[in-house]
Amino acid sequence: MTPADPKLLANIRIVLTRTSHPGNIGAAARAMKTMGLSQLVLVDPAVFPNSQADAMASGAADLLAQARVCTSLAEALADTTLALGVSARRRDIVSEVLTPPEASLRLLSEAPVGPVALVFGNETSGLSNEELSLCQGLVTIAANPDYSSLNLAAAVQVLGYEIRQAWLGHASWPQPEMDAATGDEVEKFYGHLETALAELEFLNPGSPGKLMLKLRRLFARTRLAKEEVNILRGILTAAQEAKQAASRMLNRDAE
Ligand code: SAH
Repeated sequence: MTPADPKLLANIRIVLTRTSHPGNIGAAARAMKTMGLSQLVLVDPAVFPNSQADAMASGAADLLAQARVCTSLAEALADTTLALGVSARRRDIVSEVLTPPEASLRLLSEAPVGPVALVFGNETSGLSNEELSLCQGLVTIAANPDYSSLNLAAAVQVLGYEIRQAWLGHASWPQPEMDAATGDEVEKFYGHLETALAELEFLNPGSPGKLMLKLRRLFARTRLAKEEVNILRGILTAAQEAKQAASRMLNRDAE
């Protein structure tokens, strides 16, 4: 068996959102490096850089030095074709729940195409609804139901280990899905969908309810390809134009 390509591990991004304790960032970097992962992205960390992070990272200080800091999760995921939220709870927002080995196979099978991400939440509050709505699936570590919340860096270690095991056994990987839309393209589509639904008066911007969240969940169940996003946006534009033409006709009749 030929060795698996290290570039695949380099394309798997670990995203830590709103981390409170800098020591956890350092410990997560160490967990990553032991498993061959290198791409660390921090979204709005409370304290970074920091000496506690450096101390906990030990020999993985290089990962901290290279870590990218973003102000929003959307920014951290803009170029990814797959983002999986890591959470012990929150099955309500994302419908697809994966085990760590399943998630590892999915990430590795997409990694040849471009960057893919695992998103970890804040130590106290976990992942917010808004953060989860940017993910296409959920990974849960089956833990003691009476006490299921792992330390953040311990959760990174478990996922990192599973990714490495899957990477070592790369012969069994599924084929990559080609031409998946990026996070940025999908977000632009959701923005267009919301605008169009408001123009079509299907969505009341004054009281939108959970419509967009539910539609996001629907689309997250399927992996949208670039071409599919273009078709859907074309349909939206056609509907918007038809609505505008109908409004113009009504106005003319009223004059
Ligand atoms: N009190 C928070 C737990 C946060 S632990 C909550 O209930 O959501 C910090 C992060 O570690 C979580 O956001 C998640 O990304 C990860 N984590 C901890 N335990 C986990 C588990 N059993 N399964 C999946 N992710 C877990």
